[in-house]
Amino acid sequence: MMHKKTNIRSAMYILENITMHEFKQYLKKTKTIVFPFGTIEEHGSHLPLNTDSFIIEETLKRAVRMRKFFLAPIVYYGVCTTTKDHPGTISITPETLRRLSFDLVTDAYKKGLRNFVLISGHGGSLHMSAMKETAEVLVERLERIKIAVLSPYDVLWKELSEISETPNDSHAGELETSIMLYLAPKLVKGRSPEEYPKIPTPFTVKNKMKYWPGGVWGNSEKASAEKGKKAVNLITDKIIELLDQIEKQK
Ligand SMILES: [Zn+2]
Repeated sequence: MMHKKTNIRSAMYILENITMHEFKQYLKKTKTIVFPFGTIEEHGSHLPLNTDSFIIEETLKRAVRMRKFFLAPIVYYGVCTTTKDHPGTISITPETLRRLSFDLVTDAYKKGLRNFVLISGHGGSLHMSAMKETAEVLVERLERIKIAVLSPYDVLWKELSEISETPNDSHAGELETSIMLYLAPKLVKGRSPEEYPKIPTPFTVKNKMKYWPGGVWGNSEKASAEKGKKAVNLITDKIIELLDQIEKQK
């Protein structure tokens, strides 16, 4: 019974499913919108290209059952750098991401929204900095907005590293594999061998695949659905905490 009720409420705030009249009506209840961002990016030989998108969408679907906020459709494409030559990665440039996030927030502001959360399932540094730069511009231009740009891997770095047994675990490693095992085990196709990129820092190099053929950063063999559940709960709680903070601030 309870479950059914929460599902009905959650559907109310999913932007792609509501009418313009519903939008106006729900705007009286909340001025907060969350824009999720992901990637289409290689995740080793065992995880799907939409891993980043899938993880953030699924955690937000959980959050929207618990709090009132508009949930926008995900932006599937993001800025990929170290994986950009790998098969399947379809990347955009930071410039495109800056323009796109700028346009999305500006238009949502015109429609009455005031609190903006740009949350990314991909933690790449150029990808995140493109969105953070946009937020800096928007906060100057749009009167009385609140805007947060984050990736769970930034804000929960310490907590998430504690779940993982692999030190320095990252892309398509123990943690991401664990989360996918928990959320969608059928999408996990075995495991990739343990690997770490050998890009000679601080150089920017061409042919990145030469230094990172398997596209894995960490040890997916150590992954488990149990660890994935802990990570998903942490991320969902963090999103809820942030939404409460936004709604409370004057
Ligand atoms: Zn990823």
